[in-house]
Amino acid sequence: MKKTTGTDRSITSKWRPATQAVRGGTWRSEHGETSEALFLNSGYTYDDAETVAARFAGEQDGMVYSRMQNPTTAMLEERIALMEGAEACRVQATGMAAMTAALLSTLSAGDHIVAGKAAFGSCRWLVDTLLPRFGIEGTNVDARNNDEWEAAIRPNTKMFFFETPANPTMDVVDMAFVCGLAKSRGILTVVDNAFATAALQRPMEFGANIVAYSATKLMDGQGRVLAGALCASEEWILDKLMPFQRNTGPILAPFNAWVVLKGLETLDLRARQQSANALQVAQFLEGRVPTILHPGLPSHPQHDLCMRQMSATGPIFSFVLDGGRSQAMALLNALEVIDISNNIGDSRSLMTHPATTTHHNMGPEGREEAGVGESMLRLNVGLEDPLDLIEDLDQALGRIGL
Ligand SMILES: *Cc1c(COP(=O)(O)O)cnc(C)c1O
Repeated sequence: MKKTTGTDRSITSKWRPATQAVRGGTWRSEHGETSEALFLNSGYTYDDAETVAARFAGEQDGMVYSRMQNPTTAMLEERIALMEGAEACRVQATGMAAMTAALLSTLSAGDHIVAGKAAFGSCRWLVDTLLPRFGIEGTNVDARNNDEWEAAIRPNTKMFFFETPANPTMDVVDMAFVCGLAKSRGILTVVDNAFATAALQRPMEFGANIVAYSATKLMDGQGRVLAGALCASEEWILDKLMPFQRNTGPILAPFNAWVVLKGLETLDLRARQQSANALQVAQFLEGRVPTILHPGLPSHPQHDLCMRQMSATGPIFSFVLDGGRSQAMALLNALEVIDISNNIGDSRSLMTHPATTTHHNMGPEGREEAGVGESMLRLNVGLEDPLDLIEDLDQALGRIGL
């Protein structure tokens, strides 16, 4: 393998993000292929027994087994780290594998975690159900309220964990404040950046220690594979994450890594265009539906904060009707262009009813606490012509009498 200029940090760190997304982390084989090669292999062979011994002893660089490293996943890791401005990155099989690895590789029995109430349902399950089984207590706060973060800190608090914007309420967290508070108390901050990606928001610039991803969403962006990623300091990746990851095995498959590499080439374009399309669709819906939750709209109470943190607000937003579950479902069933789907970040427009899908497992009380009502719908705006989406929403709203 020949490392190209794409792996020389003194060169790549100066590139702008769109260039990093296309060229960062590229290695080439002796064939000089243009696109990244797919190394669909589990193991490696060695020229002599001393070489493999040196690699296992950590005395020589090189691959030993695809549970630890693979050239295709390594290219993806390098590219994501560059785009994030992080020292290092490791990829995992899914977004939830990444979240689980971030928490379990860092926390131990007797520790305490503070997390945002509004979060992806499975992230809440980790904090509320899994961690307590191992003696790790959690406190959920309204992540928009800086005072709640401060008040929740205990002597044994080791981690803050939140999403911004959060799924599906679009709550925005003041990252400079919350990460700064954590740092002053020796607490590690994990930010789930799935809704934005590095194309739109870089949490490390605001003091986040670990940026966690579902790469299934905007990074792949075309509904093909599940993937996850963790970006952090080299020290955390090598000392905390790698012992956990190499021994428990949540690694991303090389094929899926290759698909995400291809997705990243167009991430910058897609993220910007889908953000613009989403804003146009939200402007149409504002005034037509009772409540709209889109922090890119000037009327949103957290608009200024959001625009300080994000270069554009992304493809996803939510809105709330006033006729309960049956009316929300009737709107979904009346759509002709937009698909009913619980995925997000896709280049196709997709709409879901979070209370009966992504947030179903939380139960009614959990949903009430997280602000996920029966009348809420979440929309991912894709790359279609926004006028076709607006016409579809117009006819669907008309059919349910709105
Ligand atoms: C989808 C999602 C996850 C989980 O990711 P998977 O790739 O589906 O495992 C975690 N956090 C957020 C914010 C998500 O949207």
